[in-house]
Amino acid sequence: MDLNESLKNRGITGIMIMLLVLAALIFTGFFRTNKQSVGKDRGEISDSVRHSQTNPISKDKAMKYNELSPDEARVILNKGTERPFSGKYDKFYEKGTYICRRCNAPLYRSQDKFDGHCGWPSFDDEIPGAVKRNVDADGSRTEILCANCSAHLGHIFTGEGFTEKNTRHCVNSISMVFAPAGTTLPAIMGASQETPVKTEKAYFAGGCFWGVEYYMQKADGVISTTVGYMGGHTQNPTYKQVCTGKTGHAETMEVVFDPSKTNYETLARLFFELHDPTQVNRQGPDVGDQYRSAVFYVNENQKQVTQKLIGLLKDKGLNVATEVAAAGAFWKAEDYHQDYYDNNGHTPYCHGYTKRF
Ligand SMILES: [Zn+2]
Repeated sequence: MDLNESLKNRGITGIMIMLLVLAALIFTGFFRTNKQSVGKDRGEISDSVRHSQTNPISKDKAMKYNELSPDEARVILNKGTERPFSGKYDKFYEKGTYICRRCNAPLYRSQDKFDGHCGWPSFDDEIPGAVKRNVDADGSRTEILCANCSAHLGHIFTGEGFTEKNTRHCVNSISMVFAPAGTTLPAIMGASQETPVKTEKAYFAGGCFWGVEYYMQKADGVISTTVGYMGGHTQNPTYKQVCTGKTGHAETMEVVFDPSKTNYETLARLFFELHDPTQVNRQGPDVGDQYRSAVFYVNENQKQVTQKLIGLLKDKGLNVATEVAAAGAFWKAEDYHQDYYDNNGHTPYCHGYTKRF
């Protein structure tokens, strides 16, 4: 190797080392940290940022996340923005859950998605606790990030009047992965040990499960609802089989809730007020024991709360017919029954809110 060539090689090695150092700095959030401290000096930092600073980004190094492509990293780690109308979920309205590309945490539900005509997926609500907010360093916009891994999602806007909630989460498609309804979601990666997501399940049957789900999924603290069958003896029943009345199953709704935001009694009270618990083996026009009123409890507390509430209703003169039984296997219903009213734009025909307590 002659001298000239050796010098040239050394020059290339030097450039490569510089590029590696630069990549490492971007990856560890070096630039982001500087940007945040600028905002802080100017007194523009939000509560959510203060909170996130107690959980510094450098901690991410110990956590393992999905590997990102260069395009994904540009948006997710370096707060870039994909070109409008280019993302795969812009005009996409399948039923399911949108999870974080980086850590798999569930972020948005399809029923909260709407067409914002802006070129990016728009949602008017997030899955409770899934998204944190951060006022941009220039103080003009509010960034939204995955609450679990701080992946950049996009920005949030209010007061535009698109939907009743008057809120638009403008999210980069590339920051998310869509999981169709009914699929098992992958495990969340790098979930913080300090804030484990504790959830509790409850099972209610009160006539046609479409109506019970319609009201229950709108309650505060509810993370998800699924309709299915419980209380019978047939394995993996179909809707058709349940409608024959021979399976013993009741049309049942599974609700997953966040006990730090609501509690079982609140949901059980709602259940007794969204259907008529005095009807026997029917609910409104729907007749048959699959439409019976039932509470399937998963622990002693749920059982006691249910019995207490039934006692209160009986004291008010209501002849409550609700069955109280230990939860058995829950058989998820066919996909077309899930989120039925939200998907079809109708409202329940035999459920409505009646104050009873
Ligand atoms: Zn994440």
